[in-house]
Order: sequence, then C-alpha cells, then structure tokens
Amino acid sequence: MRPVGRPWESGRPLTVLQRYPFPIGSVDARDGDMMQQAGSLRIAVPAILTASLLFGCAGETGSPLATQSVGARSYAQAVGPSDWSGQSGASGHPQMSADAIRADAANFNQCLANLWPEAARRGVSRQVYDAQTQGLTPDLKIMDLVDAQPEFTKAFWEYLDLLVSDDRVARGREILTQYRPIFDQVEKVYGVDRHIITAIWGIESKYSTMIGDRSVVRSTATLACIGRRQDYFRNEFLATLELLQRNDVTPDELKGSWAGAFGPTQFMPTVYKQYAVDFDRDGRRDIVSSVPDLIASTANYFKRNGWETGQTWGYEVEVPQNFNYLLADRSRQMTIHDWERLGIRRAGGKAFPNTHARAFLLVPAGSQGPGFLMLNNFRVIMRYNPSEAYALAIGHLADRLRGGEAFVQAWPRHERALSVAERAEMQQLLSAKGFDIGEADGRFGPKTRAAIRDFQARAGLVPDGFASTTVLAKLRGS
Ligand code: CA
Repeated sequence: MRPVGRPWESGRPLTVLQRYPFPIGSVDARDGDMMQQAGSLRIAVPAILTASLLFGCAGETGSPLATQSVGARSYAQAVGPSDWSGQSGASGHPQMSADAIRADAANFNQCLANLWPEAARRGVSRQVYDAQTQGLTPDLKIMDLVDAQPEFTKAFWEYLDLLVSDDRVARGREILTQYRPIFDQVEKVYGVDRHIITAIWGIESKYSTMIGDRSVVRSTATLACIGRRQDYFRNEFLATLELLQRNDVTPDELKGSWAGAFGPTQFMPTVYKQYAVDFDRDGRRDIVSSVPDLIASTANYFKRNGWETGQTWGYEVEVPQNFNYLLADRSRQMTIHDWERLGIRRAGGKAFPNTHARAFLLVPAGSQGPGFLMLNNFRVIMRYNPSEAYALAIGHLADRLRGGEAFVQAWPRHERALSVAERAEMQQLLSAKGFDIGEADGRFGPKTRAAIRDFQARAGLVPDGFASTTVLAKLRGS
C-alpha cells in the first residue's frame, strides 16, 4: 500500500493529512484552512487506504518482510532502512532535513529507550516493551511519504466518481445483508445509521480488502523519534504498546498505513484506545478480526462525536439564479426553512423532511454545479476526516447503499482541476492584489475561497468561490 502524503505544514494536525484520500490534492486543498481548525479530533486515516482503493494496492516496494515481524529484527537484516530517498523533505521543516533525519535515525534506539518509563507508567510490561522494540529499526521510507507533494489534483466530482462507484455500492449492499443481525444490534445500542458505517468501511479499506501492510509499531516508533511530528506520534506509539499489552489485537494484526492507522475503518492507535468496544464480548476489543467489534467501534466513534440519531447528513439542493453565494459559507448556519425562503429547493422536487434543522450551504463547484445543505451529521463525518469531498462521498455512498439515486444535477465536467502549480499561482496573484488568502500553502480552504469570491465580484464574475481556470485567467490578465 502506498500512501501518498501531502505537503505538510508544521503545526497542522498530522492525522488530518494522513486521513486524506490520496492524490486528491484538490480535495484537501479545498479544505486546507478548515483542516487547521479541525484539529482536535483526529482520527484515523484513510489516506492510505483510500489511495489504494483508488489506484490499486501494490505491496510496499517489494518488501513483504517488512510487515511480517513487528519486532523487525529480521526485517532490518533483510531490507534495512535504505529505501529512503535520502532527500530532505519538501516541507522545509528543520526536522525534515536529510541531516536531521539521519541524526534522529542514529539515535533511534536511545529514543525508544527514553520512552520506556512512560510506557511503564501506562502499564506496559517490560516483556511486551522489549518484544516490540528490541532490534527495531526505523522505517525511513516514511520520511519520504510524510513530505510527499501531490503532483496532480482531482476535481471534486472526479473524487466522488472514484469513491462512490457502482462496484462499491454493490459490495456494500452485500455487506449490509451479510451482517444484518450485527447492524441491527449496533443500531439499537448506538443509534448510528448502518449505511454510514458501511460507507466508512467501504471507502477506508474497500470493505477490508485493502488495508495497509506496514507494522503499526514500527511506523509509529519511527514517527515518534524522527521527523516533525514526534510529540504527536510518541502518544500513538505508546498507545500501540498499550493495546498490545491488553492483548486486544495481536502484533500480526497490527498492520496499517505509514501513519499507523489500522483495521478496516482505519483507526489510529489513540482513537482505538478511546473508542474501540468489545461488542462480541470475548474479552478483546478487536476491530481487525471481529466484525461485531469493528462495526460497533466505528458506530461508537460517531456516537461520541455527536451523531444525531435519525438525522441524515444533508441534502442535494438547487440554488436559484442570482443567488448570493456569500451565504454559502460553513460558518453561516440557518434553518432549512430559512434557506427555502432564500429560494433553495431540494433537488428532484422532493420536500425536506424537517425544515427546522440547521444547515450550511456548500457549493463545491460554484454556481455551475449542485448545492448541498449540510446538517450537523455532515460535520460529524468531517471529524473522521476533515475533507468536504470525503464527507460528501461518505454521505452519498450511504444514500446509495440505502437505495438512493445518484445526484440529480450535473457537475461542470468541462472544468478541470487546477494543478498544484496553478493553485500556488492563484494564491500568489490573489495575495499580490491584496486579498487575504491566509497561508499560501496551495490548499484552498475557506479563506482562499472567500478571496476568490471577492476577486470574482470585483471582476464581474459570479462570486461563487470556485477556483476555475477562468478565474485564474482573469487574475493573470488583471
Ligand atoms: Ca471482541
């Protein structure tokens, strides 16, 4: 499995980056600013998985040994850490310079030894600690992945097409049938829609068929001692040891993404520690091999993050001509009734079941594409992965699994996603003209979107915040 990292800004929650669906640069780009705010929660990371889902999952650089032994002595001897490029990371972070990586790698064993007292304080036995760390070598290839720059981006709809495929819908329906009794019980206990859980399962690991093959112990140990997110990963590494101590999962089951997310719904170790439940009551919280534990643990995550039982995630809507797109902002929540008064209609001529719910309006493709009214549960999905495209894919796949139709309105498929270079250029041009884009990081979040709207208004374009090639051309010529 080959995760593709993203440009990484120090201070931005790593989890977020990792959860990101693959070369979908456009996706995270749209949410960049939001990602910084989203931080606290955290979770699991579909990054990898999604990558593999989309593009097929090749074993990691031909080193199956890497995943056979968590203890990794055999791996170290067989492969060694030499598959790292030896290059400094693209982020420019001082801890990602080649020299700093080499220095940290040389100190790896001492770094792990320094973590023993904290592991002991958490109840990890010396035996478990030694079994996992003796002879362990860092997986330096991860340093390349952490700072990998996407080379291309995908449009919002291309991302949806890939994730909400007919194949994924069909297999998901089989899953729902196969595990119906478990879903019945879990829904009763947690009140979380089975179709959402199934959609997460389908998109994170293509229903368990694509799960990362890296040792979670080795990955988190590497990131705990090398690179720019060591504080964050020390906790993930220690949480990994804790769950091995508890015998919840076996070392062999602890395989996952380069960032340490594992299991069919890709929990990070700390998320596992906090949310995993033993639903089949065999004494182990096993989200890897127990389907009841997997389904219930994922439901528990959503429940504890605010999922509203009986509520949907949102609705596709039609936005009237000459609509004031300044209202299409995540910070502007109104009741559906209020949106209706502004001319917003549910797509397909249907009525809204509940007009008292509060929602914000999202127009991912601006005035040329469908609009969406997003309810609280959409925000809950975004806590799993703070990407609007990801959350919309989850919601839409859930609807399709339930028997719903594809979106009614067309996407502007003649528009192409801006390249990474074009995004950077657009931000530079906006900034040079005095528009506030926040951080010029190639990610297009709410601030960049607002700057685009302001520019569009000044240039006589529909101010919908959509970063089209037309807007870029206008910017270049103005
Ligand atoms: Ca269990």
